[in-house]
Amino acid sequence: MSKVITRFAPSPTGHLHIGGLRTALFSYLHAKSKNGKFCLRIEDTDMARNSQEATKAIIEAFDWVGLQYDGEVIYQSQRFDIYKKYIQQLLDENKAYYCYMSKEELDSLRKEQEAKKQTPRYDNRYRDFQGTPPSNISPVVRIKAPLNGIIEFEDGVKGKMVFQASEVDDFIIARSDGSPTYNFVVAIDDALMGITDVIRGDDHLSNTPKQIVVYNALGFKIPKFYHVPMILGPDGTKLSKRHGAMGVMEYKDAGYLPQAILNFLVRLGWSYQNEEIFDLKDMLEKFDANDLNSSPSSYNQEKFLWLNQHYIKQTPNEELEILLKDFGIHHFQKDTRDVLFNEIKNRSQTLLEFSNQIKAIFEAPKEFDSKMFAKCDLQTKEILKDFLCFIESHNLDSLKTIQETLYSFTENKNIKIGTLMQNLRLALLGKPGGIGIAETLFVLEKQESANRIKKLIDSIH
Ligand code: GLU
Repeated sequence: MSKVITRFAPSPTGHLHIGGLRTALFSYLHAKSKNGKFCLRIEDTDMARNSQEATKAIIEAFDWVGLQYDGEVIYQSQRFDIYKKYIQQLLDENKAYYCYMSKEELDSLRKEQEAKKQTPRYDNRYRDFQGTPPSNISPVVRIKAPLNGIIEFEDGVKGKMVFQASEVDDFIIARSDGSPTYNFVVAIDDALMGITDVIRGDDHLSNTPKQIVVYNALGFKIPKFYHVPMILGPDGTKLSKRHGAMGVMEYKDAGYLPQAILNFLVRLGWSYQNEEIFDLKDMLEKFDANDLNSSPSSYNQEKFLWLNQHYIKQTPNEELEILLKDFGIHHFQKDTRDVLFNEIKNRSQTLLEFSNQIKAIFEAPKEFDSKMFAKCDLQTKEILKDFLCFIESHNLDSLKTIQETLYSFTENKNIKIGTLMQNLRLALLGKPGGIGIAETLFVLEKQESANRIKKLIDSIH
């Protein structure tokens, strides 16, 4: 069997959208799970709409998520000579022709067809034109599409697809300035790059019969197509910004991990038994394009966050520390870091939340939660004062000694541990919730803890 070669072929008109990354991931997995090749082709022929920045952003996003493509990136903008050659070949073989239809002719044809309630389409008027070409028109080149019969293919997701040849007109393959058109270059490149399997969004389904016309005209082997249904938002409409979907690198800024993004995306349109967690290695073992779902999947933000937290928890603390630098978190002593991170891992779903929680812990509370504060009385003040004296003579250098200190204090004073914890939580963190109190005392250390406790003591009258 020949090697599977797939490609991802984005048009660099903006950032890489996560829907695009899903298509890329499926293409990558399909090839790589079969020891094949995965290529990246930038479809930048439309100079007006494409930007180099967008191309850079796409490549950056690929690097970040860790999808490696094989070989050099192919840029369509550098292949005009190749396209020209094939346009000429089709002209020479009488499989394509110059069409001299003027704008006025086209307008009047449209009007006629509209009046007859027909779908506007080119009427092949220059298909077999033998006359003298009008000198005032720069012609376009049209390909001769079959006049009758069917164009069919077996789609790997949707099954047998049949189009009436009459639905495909003699479409333009080169504009009047000589530049090749989209469906033409896609087919040429896929063929020349040896692409065996094309996986793309089903918004491209209507392009496929046209591309097949090109393959056939040039005698190229037609690849296997997989048209994947779009991702929908929770309201059933096509996924967009409105649903919280973003460009891939925006997820990075929001504190998502690439593993979570890939895991989330692979499940949008593919499943394996009842499993939810797949790292790239699992995906490569289990992915089969035949299992791609033929019905649309929907974007579920909660699940995305759940997966992100899962991968945050899986990440060793020293790696997390490096990732958190981008969120303004600096180096910690190893012990402090481990106690702090282990607590926060269970409490945050993104690195952004993670960093915000760390920052909040190291900032002394500016105010105290009013409900908690209302419960403080002179007895609270006494307890806190005694606790301050108690810790003076006790070692707070490890979590274990802190825990022992907390217990011996409460036993000594005959108060409930819960009462002490509540009071310390208010003093140290200013509000309910958050990481454990022993852990807080450990990471803040004795001096800062004492300062915060003193502040609460002074506030109680
Ligand atoms: N360049 C096209 C796009 O960005 C994809 C073409 C294809 O996959 O065939 O939507």
